[in-house]
Amino acid sequence: MSDFAVARRRMVREQLVEAGLADRRVLRAMEEVPRHLFVPKVIRHRAHQASALPIGYGQTISRPFTVGLMTTLLELQGHENVLEIGTGSGYQAAVLAHLTDHVVSVERIRPLAARARTILAELGVENVDALPADGVTGLAERAPFDAIMVTACAPHLPPALLGQLRDGGHLLIPVNRGREQILYRYERRGEEVVVEQSVSCRFVPLLDGVDDPAEDSAAAAATEGEHLA
Ligand code: SAH
Repeated sequence: MSDFAVARRRMVREQLVEAGLADRRVLRAMEEVPRHLFVPKVIRHRAHQASALPIGYGQTISRPFTVGLMTTLLELQGHENVLEIGTGSGYQAAVLAHLTDHVVSVERIRPLAARARTILAELGVENVDALPADGVTGLAERAPFDAIMVTACAPHLPPALLGQLRDGGHLLIPVNRGREQILYRYERRGEEVVVEQSVSCRFVPLLDGVDDPAEDSAAAAATEGEHLA
């Protein structure tokens, strides 16, 4: 077993299982997805630590526990059409891809969306569409979704999203509450919407519009010349 596979097993045991996460399919997915390939090369040795890590353009890959918790809360059965808002590194999308048939993930920072696409393609992940788009309005042309996961923190639930959620589906979103961020889970039951408050969390902000910034040289240098073995 490679060193990275050993590190992943340990990450799953110490950061997920010992913290109370027990969905076997989620644990297996996170044991299998090569998290180190989604972080810049220069910090690859830290890929499995219990914290968020920088991925360039001022953004971060979420810590393993957050990915495990959010994925568990979606309760995927395997045939859902899932929307992720905030592709970032593409890691969360790759984990979701292990658990369901189809994932669409949108990212407002074009070069991040492009990089995530490349990594997912190199890994042979075929059931994720990673697109550059502003997710604040959802993705009407691919709706309805059985599940929606927002991985950036919003001031409030963007109004378009619930309308793109199928009956019985779950929507996860971190929302600002004073100085805190709280992860909410909405469930659509016919005309009713049930809201549950989950944990306190820390995400980068959900912003409007697509951005096409100049190359982030630190991030570029970190992944340059990478070819997956
Ligand atoms: N899920 C990611 C981590 C999320 S970081 C991973 O697995 O690595 C949050 C991401 O949301 C950032 O890349 C940020 O650019 C993106 N984002 C913020 N607002 C957005 C919006 N309106 N539409 C799409 N992406 C957005």
